[in-house]
Amino acid sequence: MLPVVALVGRPNVGKSTLFNRLTRTRDALVADYPGLTRDRQYGQASVEEHPFIVIDTGGIHGDEEGIDALMAEQSLMAVDEADAVLFLVDARAGLTSADEAIADYLRKQDKKVFLVANKIDGIDADSAVAEFFSLGLGETVHQIAAAHGRGVTQLLTLALTPHIEALGQEVDADDNNDADELIFEEGQEVEVDAPEEDDKIKLAIIGKPNVGKSTLTNRILGEERVVVYDMPGTTRDSVYIPMEHNGREYTLIDTAGIRRRKNVNDVVEKYSVIKTLRAIEDANVCLLIIDAREGITDQDLSLLGFILEAGRSLVVAVNKWDGIDQEIKDNIHKELDRRLGFIDFARIHFISALHGTGVGHLYESVEEAFVSATKRISTSMVTKILDMAVFDHQPPMHNGRRIKLKYAHAGGYNPPIVVIHGNQTKYLPPSYKRYLMNYYRKSLKIMGTPIKIEFRETS
Ligand code: GDP
Ligand code: GDP
Repeated sequence: MLPVVALVGRPNVGKSTLFNRLTRTRDALVADYPGLTRDRQYGQASVEEHPFIVIDTGGIHGDEEGIDALMAEQSLMAVDEADAVLFLVDARAGLTSADEAIADYLRKQDKKVFLVANKIDGIDADSAVAEFFSLGLGETVHQIAAAHGRGVTQLLTLALTPHIEALGQEVDADDNNDADELIFEEGQEVEVDAPEEDDKIKLAIIGKPNVGKSTLTNRILGEERVVVYDMPGTTRDSVYIPMEHNGREYTLIDTAGIRRRKNVNDVVEKYSVIKTLRAIEDANVCLLIIDAREGITDQDLSLLGFILEAGRSLVVAVNKWDGIDQEIKDNIHKELDRRLGFIDFARIHFISALHGTGVGHLYESVEEAFVSATKRISTSMVTKILDMAVFDHQPPMHNGRRIKLKYAHAGGYNPPIVVIHGNQTKYLPPSYKRYLMNYYRKSLKIMGTPIKIEFRETS
């Protein structure tokens, strides 16, 4: 389980700037897909081999209405679910009443809070941050300049990492206890969870609220044999449901947190971004559900961004395909081309979770995506494919010299990584990179998973 760190503070203190600095290195894969407009609110970061999820909670003023109120609610929920909070204040602007209001809120949360004064570049930092001690959030005011990276490494390594490491140990201990607390479905055959095997597909059902996640999960579970039913520990945990389909073992990661036991009052779990992010991280394949009646929304794209960022395999299901007229269907097709055209590696299904139409075919794409992601590719094969691609279509010139691509090796799988060695590779235009990616995709018959291509300079 990845720890979660929430960035909190009033607008304009530099949360997004810090967020970008923390998550930048992970963006490489996403950057290959132009067209992905994302409100950058959550991402993955890591310090010294310790990955964590970082959430930019957006500004909290305390007087939000409408959409803003919803945003603020997700922000507060993020704080609630986070393992640590970085509370940002603006060292140049000084202490404000909004800072005090947020500090009041945080003090009541029983949460590890790090007070961080940003924008210390070009000012006398020590005297500027002195007044923030009055917020009563511990003995340290961490000083950073997020825009320049100053102080950020110290903040992470000296404060955050030790906290995250300590958490990791706690979590391990918790896990052991949980083993005794599995709840089994009445009348179901009970088997002990086998140790994790490579060929078991962890499938996460991902989507914004009301797209039909619970309906789909219920539909799938109604038809398949459920082995053991494991209840969520807390609201931020998904339900893990082992099941079988056509002799293949799956673990369904149910972010909607449905409960099937009829004698337990149905608890409608709150939608939680963090739960969703963790499920994506933990899955092999993500099934992203889109609501045909709403079209493709920014929230869908932002979930898609995280799936790509995590390098997960992807199958898209457009749900609620029942009872809509042809015009709406045509519009959806157009929108898919326009807004999702760039994820041409993902299969798109049109389903009705309510009636079960199309649900059975999802497995074929999920299986294909899983096999593609975990496929071992050999160095001789990727070099041969590179030769063919270059033969068919040479890279362009740069400064009068042709960009050379010499050989390639397999850099890993899940997602598949191809490392290409050559000269002046940094001048390769995006269009040529996309050409290579498509060439590899076709030649290796990889569907449902992004291929990552990295370049190395040779002398
Ligand atoms: P957010 O609203 O809290 O997400 O704040 P932003 O990250 O959008 O930053 C607000 C403004 O502060 C922007 O104009 C940033 O360029 C600026 N800013 C962020 N970090 C620093 C910093 O370390 N030093 C200075 N001087 N400006 C910064
Ligand atoms: P979740 O929040 O993503 O788990 O969504 P739910 O499964 O709770 O579904 C939200 C609403 O959409 C419910 O009223 C469902 O009955 C409805 N719904 C789900 N799937 C379908 C579908 O395929 N067709 C139609 N017409 N409605 C659906």
